[in-house]
Amino acid sequence: MSRVYNFSAGPAVLPEEVLREAADEMLDYRGSGMSVMEMSHRSKVYDTIIKEAEADLRELMNIPDNYKVLFLQGGASQQFAMIPMNLMKNRKAAYIVTGQWAKKAYQEAKLYGEAIEVASSADKTFSYIPDCSDLDIPEDADYVYICENNTIYGTKFKTLPNTKGHTLVADVSSCFLSEPVDVTKYGIIYGGVQKNIGPAGVVIVIIREDLITEDVLPGTPTMLRYKIHADNDSLYNTPPAYGIYICGKVFKWLKKMGGLQAMKERNEKKAKILYDFLDESRLFKGTVRKEDRSLMNVPFVTGNEELDAKFVKEAKAAGFENLKGHRTVGGMRASIYNAMPIEGVEKLVEFMRKFEAENA
Ligand SMILES: *Cc1c(COP(=O)(O)O)cnc(C)c1O
Repeated sequence: MSRVYNFSAGPAVLPEEVLREAADEMLDYRGSGMSVMEMSHRSKVYDTIIKEAEADLRELMNIPDNYKVLFLQGGASQQFAMIPMNLMKNRKAAYIVTGQWAKKAYQEAKLYGEAIEVASSADKTFSYIPDCSDLDIPEDADYVYICENNTIYGTKFKTLPNTKGHTLVADVSSCFLSEPVDVTKYGIIYGGVQKNIGPAGVVIVIIREDLITEDVLPGTPTMLRYKIHADNDSLYNTPPAYGIYICGKVFKWLKKMGGLQAMKERNEKKAKILYDFLDESRLFKGTVRKEDRSLMNVPFVTGNEELDAKFVKEAKAAGFENLKGHRTVGGMRASIYNAMPIEGVEKLVEFMRKFEAENA
């Protein structure tokens, strides 16, 4: 067996330890005589799995009691609709558009009410985070929406926008559990888990209780109401049971690694290796304004498309997978989520140095 260094933006690398443990438990989960994939989500043994997952996540993120944790399906993209359907009481919301995922959310919200783009970084192909300290947010806006880490463009909000008292809603798909967060600053924090936590098919929504109401837009399907899932502890219908089980293992792994402060330090150290190299390289360069650089997704280019393609091809042959940039931006992107070992980034930089010497 040989594992590659997988720099995929998502679905992405998972801790090897977690995969081994899941493999060990595949045929007989702790004496139950069955796989977690095969058991009833209403069984006692599964109840322990989902409850422990929630408790560990609450501990990791220090989630206050007045927030619910929901394990849902439909990916992050389904939240683009679920958020306005549940929160747009005045049919008005402010969107900060810092990339394709924020734009998709903004466009989806327009189906339900007045979505207002209050800031954007589209003028420079989303290579920076706009100043959000004094935005023109309508008084009656139901919420302010951000995509906190822009997976495709590699930018991250280092300070949260000044929402002027409005509820903040954040898509954290690609920075989930990468560093400590102050949950109390948000109304909703949500993300698909396939970037930094687990297998595709689970989306985690952390939502302040006062935002969970019966008062949703007319026609909102039962399955798209936060209240139905909150009232049923994410077991209204069959949840993505196996995915939640893997997420639970990753939460335990993160606790063992020292929690989110330790992950932040590790992630900073890891990203610095790559950014320092990009800053000194004669061939490669980062595409993002320095102060807005993501710790998780690192886009870079050589400035020559043919050379980019050659790099991706040779890197793959050397065991560095999925370095091709997003299809809409080209170049390269290294996603270096929690589970990417520091050694993977060190080896990548070593390979880039060699490629530079041969091609610059
Ligand atoms: C990947 C991604 C999405 C889309 O996730 P799906 O689960 O495929 O719907 C949304 N937002 C961000 C920030 C992402 O990285």
